[in-house]
Amino acid sequence: MIDTQSDPHSSSFPSTEKQKDLSKLLVSELKEMGIPDAAMDDNGYVYATILSNVDHDVPVICFCAHVDTSSDSSGTGVKPIVQRNYQGLPIVLPDDTTQLIRLEDHPYLSEKIGEDIITASGTTLLGADDKAGVAVIMDMAQFLVTHPGVKHGKIRLLFTPDEEIGRGVDKLDMNVLGADYGYTLDGSERGSLEDETFSADSATVSFYGISAHPGYAKDKLVNAVKVAAAFVDALPKGAFSPETTSGTEGFVHPVHMEGTAEKATVDFIIRDFDTAKLSAHAEFLRNLADETIGDFPGARFDIHIREQYRNMKEVLDLHPHVVSFAEKAIRRAGMEVRKVPVRGGTDGSRLSFMGLPCPNIFTGEMAFHSKQEYVSVQDMQKAVETIVHLAGVWAEKSVS
Ligand SMILES: [Zn+2]
Repeated sequence: MIDTQSDPHSSSFPSTEKQKDLSKLLVSELKEMGIPDAAMDDNGYVYATILSNVDHDVPVICFCAHVDTSSDSSGTGVKPIVQRNYQGLPIVLPDDTTQLIRLEDHPYLSEKIGEDIITASGTTLLGADDKAGVAVIMDMAQFLVTHPGVKHGKIRLLFTPDEEIGRGVDKLDMNVLGADYGYTLDGSERGSLEDETFSADSATVSFYGISAHPGYAKDKLVNAVKVAAAFVDALPKGAFSPETTSGTEGFVHPVHMEGTAEKATVDFIIRDFDTAKLSAHAEFLRNLADETIGDFPGARFDIHIREQYRNMKEVLDLHPHVVSFAEKAIRRAGMEVRKVPVRGGTDGSRLSFMGLPCPNIFTGEMAFHSKQEYVSVQDMQKAVETIVHLAGVWAEKSVS
């Protein structure tokens, strides 16, 4: 397996050169399939075109997956293992036998009896996030190229680097991409379709104290470290945090803290499905900081908010057919549609606001970012079937 781990601490683009090893391989495989324009640009994006085989105009749709894997778990020396005909027993990963994939911990496995499950070997993640998506798109391309009887409009394929570190579309050229609508293949359970993500801001709260030589600090020193600690301690403990919320509830979450007696900062991420609530959450932090410094005369604070990404639903609601065509394709492939709000962002959330309305389709990837990551071969096949149908739905619906 090719190591394609991205690196949040790198300032280059892509963040790691090794991601291009996979991207180059994809280009050569696409060319072998008979897709001559497949190419990788300097930033590591792979673009390719499957030409339309109908006479009428069809909007150009894009299928997108990311080549990089998460830095939460090693991606070096991944050894995929296919466990054929899974029967519900714990799967022991051979390179670290304390790593057991058990049905009790992964309830989705109860739907996978009789299927073929791919896992890693115990010391690394698998990388199905998002190599499952890459494989699904490659397989769809192979299928369409070899089945000219299946009708579709022009399709653009896109493979991006650095999704896991939130930079996946930073250098994407929308003109080069030239697509009207898109779908990322980066979802989980069979039949799932994600058209709703968090809206996200980050906040940095800085506390300023008054420093003095500690030997002579009586009645002078105001320690910013203590102010920041009191502020963090004053955050709600039973609510409004990642560890206490689910579904469509939002939260504020301190992710980093550093400081000296003179200045201490606390970095937050702020999340909600309702974008309008983000500013209320920021206001909550502001008020809490204000109350906190009340106990530390002489201390000051300021707060800086930065936009991260927005709920794709705001865009998708303006183009309802993008989602309804995907629902139709999932049903045609014989599944019920599962719609789940994503408590995170996808490349599609940013693409949607860059002019490419872009929901997320399942691939079967599960327990991602961990050593227990797994994916069902049959789920991936269903995803291929879904997007082949989806290309067909677009071609039909666009008959004028
Ligand atoms: Zn992913």
